[in-house]
Amino acid sequence: MTDRKAQIARNLTQVEERITAACVAAGRKREEVTLIVVTKTYPASDVRILSELGVRHVAENRDQDAAPKAAECSGLPLTWHFVGQLQTNKVRSVVGYAGIVQSVDRARLVTALSKEAVRTGREVGCLIQIALDADESGRGARGGVGPDGIEELGELVAKAPGLRLDGLMTVAPLTGPYAGREQAAFERLMDLSTDLRRTHPAANMVSAGMSSDLEQAVAAGATHVRVGTAVLGVRPGLG
Ligand SMILES: *Cc1c(COP(=O)(O)O)cnc(C)c1O
Repeated sequence: MTDRKAQIARNLTQVEERITAACVAAGRKREEVTLIVVTKTYPASDVRILSELGVRHVAENRDQDAAPKAAECSGLPLTWHFVGQLQTNKVRSVVGYAGIVQSVDRARLVTALSKEAVRTGREVGCLIQIALDADESGRGARGGVGPDGIEELGELVAKAPGLRLDGLMTVAPLTGPYAGREQAAFERLMDLSTDLRRTHPAANMVSAGMSSDLEQAVAAGATHVRVGTAVLGVRPGLG
């Protein structure tokens, strides 16, 4: 085993232990929580290692980096999640590799994703990204739609050819009423998910929690955690 593989294996074991402990504490089954490893800024060789170590879900937030990486790893049994702010001019590329787009936050994006999914004969899973720090415009600083926008956008996704409404995603806000209150933020997301599932029962994915707050997300009921740093290391620079 290379040094890098041994290091990633150790980190994965630690993250696995954290998820398991959080599930035990919450009285949940380990199988209820899926680990998605966020591979942004790390090379395709790390993605290959993750796959060899049994990881099945990876996430990226920038198409420029993700597209060549996904192409290099196309033979691996991985589901690629797109978790970054998505411009409509990148949709064609993203639909080429992403099985799930977690950052759906506006009608124009839904239209573009649907058009491309139909054109290529793919089905794209969609999570609506919720901004719990949305301002009067109804939008968050880092993308996402405010809670008031969920119903309309969810309906739009559910009716769009080629798209599947899978659930909700959030990033714990750094500003606003939920700043520093990750668990409360994730509990709010769960309530919004409960509302959404009244009309869309299959939209049961709840993506929340990163390296620093995955325990709070599991406690609140998240079905998917997105972990980068704790598995692959601290990213150099911004990312
Ligand atoms: C980078 C990123 C993560 C992972 O963050 P870490 O703190 O490195 O675990 C999760 N979700 C999104 C949307 C991200 O951009």
